[in-house]
Amino acid sequence: MLDRIKGGLFGVAIGDALGATTEFMSVDDVRRKYGKVTDIIGGGFLDLKPGEVTDDTAMTIAVARGIIRDPTCPIHDIGEEFLRWYETDPPDVGIIIRMVLRRYQGDWFAAAVQACEELGGRCAGNGSLMRCLPIALAYADQEKMEEITAVHSRMTHADERATEACLIYNRIAFRVLQGEPLAKAIRKEVEHTRYEPLLMVTPAYPPDGYVVHTMGWVLHWLLRCESFEDVVISAANMGGDSDTIAAIAGGLKGLEVGYSQLPKRFVETIGCADELEKLAVQLADVRSSFGSEAVQG
Ligand SMILES: [Mg+2]
Repeated sequence: MLDRIKGGLFGVAIGDALGATTEFMSVDDVRRKYGKVTDIIGGGFLDLKPGEVTDDTAMTIAVARGIIRDPTCPIHDIGEEFLRWYETDPPDVGIIIRMVLRRYQGDWFAAAVQACEELGGRCAGNGSLMRCLPIALAYADQEKMEEITAVHSRMTHADERATEACLIYNRIAFRVLQGEPLAKAIRKEVEHTRYEPLLMVTPAYPPDGYVVHTMGWVLHWLLRCESFEDVVISAANMGGDSDTIAAIAGGLKGLEVGYSQLPKRFVETIGCADELEKLAVQLADVRSSFGSEAVQG
């Protein structure tokens, strides 16, 4: 279990660090400039060092820390971690999340609704989807996992398309953590949802930050690529919101294959590896203690 949990967290960070090189580029620009990106080389619009990560990993870490501090009722602590991260003045805060963090005055859900109104209702971004995996890692109780997944999304994204994507994503993760193959888990969870066509066809929309587009591309790469390496490299070379799409896809694929099967050249490059290892152990502890409480009733 710990190997899978570690694989999930490192999967997010590797996808993020790899995809950051090509963020906001078109697929043609990526080809012209790099041929094909196959290693974590940094650069990109944030001018990163190789192995540096962005908001996707930072907010995933924030969610993990919040859960570890108060597993029973983590929303408050997750919010505190968001604020702590924002105070470090990161260069890459998403538009929706920045607006919410600026408007927050003690009520996350009110701040999210206000930000969404000010954005003219355009708040179905991928910013909650990119950070939601630790919830599936920490809770073996499905009801609890789903409740926290949904509420955590609404803290910043007052749009049910964001909630829906987080729920589908974490339900897939839930199945994989129980040993189901990833492709099978995806098939079961996308059935009768807006994502069902992805089982048959390639997305006809850009790989951008709209959560429905992001989720579509994530599922596309997960269904069509064999290895972890293929998943994150394919997502990275599409450009667009490449770091986030590679991070979200990398999280699920990392969960399936486990940390020990991740390519060493990627793992060894990740700058925040020590922090991720520590969090994985703590999330595994939350999972086993919550699991046994649920069994005891
Ligand atoms: Mg990013």
